[in-house]
Amino acid sequence: MQKCGWTHCSCGGYIYDNQPKIRVGKKWYHEECAKDRELIQDIITKFIEQVNYAQIPVLRKIVNDIIYNEIKPAEYVMFALNYAIAHPEMKLTYPQGLYRICNSHDILTAWTHQVAKNAVGSHRIEINEVDQPTTVINKTAGKRMVSDLFE
Ligand SMILES: [Zn+2]
Repeated sequence: MQKCGWTHCSCGGYIYDNQPKIRVGKKWYHEECAKDRELIQDIITKFIEQVNYAQIPVLRKIVNDIIYNEIKPAEYVMFALNYAIAHPEMKLTYPQGLYRICNSHDILTAWTHQVAKNAVGSHRIEINEVDQPTTVINKTAGKRMVSDLFE
C-alpha cells in the first residue's frame, strides 16, 4: 500500500495492491487520478493557449473547484472548454467564465448527446442499420446522463 500522488485523490488516498496504478515522474497515482491529473493539465494548457490567459494558479484553482467541489467530470470540463472555444459568442475570456460555461444548458445538452452517442456506438456498428432506432436510444440515454451529472 502506498500513498497516491494526486492531491485531489478521490479514491481514498492510498493505492492498494489490487488497484491499477500509474507512475508519473517519482510518484505513483491511481489510474483514475493520473487520468484526471493529465486532463486538468490539458484543460489549463488549452485555456492559456486559446483564451490567452496566463494566471495559472487562478485557472488551476477554478478548474479544481469545478471538478472536485461542483463534482463535474474532468472530461466534461474539457468538452465545455472546447465547445466555448468553438462558439465565440459564448464569450469565454477569463477563468471565472468556466463556471458559467460548465453550467450552460447548450453545452450540457451537447455533452449528453455525445455521451449517449458514445454509449451506443458499439451497438451502431453491430446493428449497422437505419438511424431511426439509434436516435430514440440517444434521447433516453441522454436524459439519464443529465440527472447523473448534476444530482
Ligand atoms: Zn488517487
